[in-house]
This record gives sequence, structure tokens and C-alpha cells, in this order.
Amino acid sequence: MVSHLREHQLDLLQEPVAVIGSGLAGLITAHTLLQDGFANVEVLTRDKSVGGVWSEERVYPGLHINRSPFPRDYSASHP
Ligand SMILES: Cc1cc2nc3c(=O)[nH]c(=O)nc-3n(C[C@H](O)[C@H](O)[C@H](O)COP(=O)(O)OP(=O)(O)OC[C@H]3O[C@@H](n4cnc5c(N)ncnc54)[C@H](O)[C@@H]3O)c2cc1C
Repeated sequence: MVSHLREHQLDLLQEPVAVIGSGLAGLITAHTLLQDGFANVEVLTRDKSVGGVWSEERVYPGLHINRSPFPRDYSASHP
């Protein structure tokens, strides 16, 4: 019985898993699934690059924070 359950568990780890979205949530989910032993994990996203809100193609012109001793600029136009 136990060995049957173990075999079933190993079979499950071979099942394909799709993670929708490559933002922080999707990347962490995919990473955790791989750590847990899932062998066939695919991240699907509609963006051209990973990162979601923080992906390369998102540009936030002029965005910066003022809660640091040093100014931080998040605008891709000001690397
Ligand atoms: C300027 C700014 C500052 C921030 N500062 C902080 C901060 O200081 N601290 C903090 O904790 N959080 C901050 N956040 C929020 C944080 O960045 C976001 O909450 C987090 O990145 C969201 O991650 P997510 O994976 O849930 O969603 P997203 O990053 O939005 O990713 C969603 C993913 O799903 C994909 N997707 C959506 N719909 C579909 C579809 N139909 N088919 C296929 N793919 C799809 C998208 O392409 C994307 O890859 C900030 C956000 C911004 C914009």
C-alpha cells in the first residue's frame, strides 16, 4: 500500500504543470514546484520577458523613491 502511494506520488511529479504569469508570484511558484520535485514545469506569460510588473519592457519614466539616503531611480530610461 505504502509503495503504491509512493509510486503514485512519483508519477504525479512527472505530470506537466503550467504556471501562468512570469511575475514574482509565477517565478516563485515555478521555483517552489521545481524544488518540490516536479520535473515538467513551464511558465507561460504574455510578456516578452520575465518579471511581470518589473519586466524589461515596462518603463516607468521618472519613477523614483525618496525613502532612502540615496535617490533610487526605477525608470528603465535612467539605468
Ligand atoms: C512602481 C511599483 C513599485 C512597487 N513597489 C513595491 C514594494 O516596494 N514592495 C512590494 O512588496 N511590492 C511593490 N510593488 C508591487 C509588486 O511589484 C507587485 O505586487 C508584484 O510584482 C506583483 O507580482 P505578480 O506576479 O503578482 O504580478 P505581475 O508582476 O503583474 O505578473 C503577472 C504576470 O502574469 C502575466 N499574465 C497576466 N495575464 C495573463 C494572461 N491572460 N495570459 C498569460 N500571462 C498573463 C503577465 O504577463 C505577467 O507576467 C510595486 C509595484 C510597482 C508597479
